[in-house]
Amino acid sequence: MVVKVPDEVRNNIESGEVKRQAHILSVRGDTRVLGVLGCPVEHSVSPAMQNTAIQALGLNYVYVPFHVLPEKLGGAVQGLCALEVAGVNITIPHKRAVIPFLDSVSERARLVGSVNTVTNVDGVLTGDTTDGPGFLQSVEAEWGAVDGTRALILGAGGSAKAIAFALVEAGCLVSLSNRTRSKADELAEAICRAFGEGSAAVVENVDGALREALSGCDMLINTTSVGMHPKPDEIPVNPELLRSSLMVCDIVYNPLKTRLLAEAERCGARTLSGIKMLARQGAISLEKWTGCKAPVDIMERAALAALGSSGEVHGNS
Ligand code: NAP
Repeated sequence: MVVKVPDEVRNNIESGEVKRQAHILSVRGDTRVLGVLGCPVEHSVSPAMQNTAIQALGLNYVYVPFHVLPEKLGGAVQGLCALEVAGVNITIPHKRAVIPFLDSVSERARLVGSVNTVTNVDGVLTGDTTDGPGFLQSVEAEWGAVDGTRALILGAGGSAKAIAFALVEAGCLVSLSNRTRSKADELAEAICRAFGEGSAAVVENVDGALREALSGCDMLINTTSVGMHPKPDEIPVNPELLRSSLMVCDIVYNPLKTRLLAEAERCGARTLSGIKMLARQGAISLEKWTGCKAPVDIMERAALAALGSSGEVHGNS
C-alpha cells in the first residue's frame, strides 16, 4: 500500500522541523533542563533560538518555556533548585521581581535592578543581566568599539537602564530622553552615582531639544516600545531630526524593520535591528549555562524563523 505523505509533513521535513523534533526526541534521563520564566511566555522566541543552538553544538540540554504567574514566582524559583534546572532566562514581568528570590546577583544586575539570566550551580542561584552586554556586542560587531561615542537613548525603562549602564561602562557619553521626564532624571542620577558626575545627561522630550542634542550625537537608540507590533506606523522621534551621519539602533524587533529604521535608511543613516541584540543576549546566557561558545548567527536565524512563522509576536524575548 502506498501511503501519501501529507503536504504539511513534507513541508516540515524540507524546512528542517524534523531535525528540531529529533533534538527534542533525544531528551534522555540525564538531559539538563534550561528554560524561560515569563507571563505571558507563549510568544517567546527563546525556545526556538536556544534549542537550535543546543542542537548545533550537540549539547545534552533542552530549553523549555515556563508560564509563571507573578504570585507564583517565588515557588517557581525554589522549584528550579528542587528540579535541578541548570538555568533559566527571566522575561516580562519578572525581571526585577525575581531578585529577592536569588542567592546572589552580579554587580551589573544590582546596578540595573534587573535579572534576565539565572544560573543554578549546585543549588546556588545567581542572577545576571545579559541585555546590556547583548546590545553592546551587537553594536560592536556591526560598527566597532563604542569608546568615545556620543549616544542619545530614547526611553528610560528596563532596557534603557541595561543599555545605558553598558554603554557608559564601555566609554560612551550618554544622553537620555523619555516621555516621562522624571524617569530619565532618575536613571541619569543612578548612572552618575555609579560612574561619576556628568556621565549621563537628560534631554527634554521635545523636538527643539532633541534636534540640538542629536546634532552633537553619533548614535540614536530607541529603547521605547513605540513602533512595535501592533502599531508599526508609530515612530519615537520626528523623522526630520534624522541625518545620514547617525548610527540608528532600534531594540524593537517586531517588526524587524521598524518605521524608525526605515526612515533612518531613507536619509542614508546606518541602522541596526533589535534582532541582533536579541540573539546576542541569548548567546551570552547560553555561554553562562554551558561554558560553550554560542553560535550567534545560527541563533539569529532561528529567532528570525520563529518570528516569521508565529504570525503575531509580542515583545518579550
Ligand atoms: P519598559 O520598561 O516598559 O519601558 C518602556 C519605555 O517605553 C518607557 O521609557 C516608556 O516611557 C516608553 N514608552 C512606552 N510607550 C510610549 C509612548 N507611547 N510614547 C513614548 N514613550 C513610550 O519596557 P522595556 O522592557 O524596556 O522594553 C522596551 C522595548 O524593548 C519593547 O518593545 C521590547 O520588546 C524591546 N526589547 C527588546 C529586546 C531585544 O533583545 N531586542 C530586549 C528587551 C526589550 P514612560 O516612562 O513615559 O512610560
